Amino acid sequence: MTSPVVELSDDRAARRGLRLFLKRDDLIHPEIPGNKWRKLKHNLGPARAHGTVLTFGGAYSNHIRAAAAAGRIFGFATIGVIRGEEHLPLNDSLAYAERMGMRLTYLDRASYRRKHDPDVVDALRERFGDFYLLPEGGSNALAVEGCAELGAEVPGFDVVCCPCGTGGTLAGLAAGLAPRQRALGFSVLKGGFLSGEVERLQRETYGGRRGNWRVEDGFHFGGYARRTPELDAFTDDFAERHGIVLDRVYTAKMMFGVLALAGRGAFPEGARILAVVTG
Ligand SMILES: *Cc1c(COP(=O)(O)O)cnc(C)c1O
Repeated sequence: MTSPVVELSDDRAARRGLRLFLKRDDLIHPEIPGNKWRKLKHNLGPARAHGTVLTFGGAYSNHIRAAAAAGRIFGFATIGVIRGEEHLPLNDSLAYAERMGMRLTYLDRASYRRKHDPDVVDALRERFGDFYLLPEGGSNALAVEGCAELGAEVPGFDVVCCPCGTGGTLAGLAAGLAPRQRALGFSVLKGGFLSGEVERLQRETYGGRRGNWRVEDGFHFGGYARRTPELDAFTDDFAERHGIVLDRVYTAKMMFGVLALAGRGAFPEGARILAVVTG
């Protein structure tokens, strides 16, 4: 199944001679939206073979929700290792994960930072037995391959944009594009380290860098899940103009960035720009 593409009529792009499109990956699956579906898809086989998946995320992680739903739908057990301490009652995301049958456990912040290190993983295996490990955000080589399919679905565009959290989506998207296309990822994290992560994931998947891509670090609005009145006003205005409510952690920051870059003349006139609504 592929997700629909719609053209946006937006004077901020039109003024610069640009055509702007949205790839509605948020509509790709009812319970497992957008890039989380793309990243999980090829991991479902090994997950079912092992019977149990263990994965990591923050208390509001979309990946934790998606992994829990996938376990329920495709028939494997799920363990979610959540950063920080347990807070009761559970927030909506974690309550949903638990309803989907996910077993929740918590790691203090210091250990969580080293969550993929062998000693931390060994301790988890001692506690929970054998499992298929999905890294934080679900970003592994099979996830990158799933996101490369997204790139292959959008041949008609010059620049393809996505938000970046762990960088798995951009790593795959860029690899799936044709040589004349380029990918632009908008980091929602402060720190400027995401290019390195995207490169590491491409190396793990393909043995080296693939595609024409860049991470834009100027639109994180203070860091993960941080908001500003300017970003909120932009998101509200976008919903009013286009009838699409962007998620404030990821896609709103990307869209703000795309239109800001357009306003600065960063894209060549006549370019067809596609923004992926990842969730
Ligand atoms: C998880 C998520 C992302 C981040 O994707 P990465 O592959 O981790 O970079 C982007 N957008 C949405 C809506 C998400 O839920």
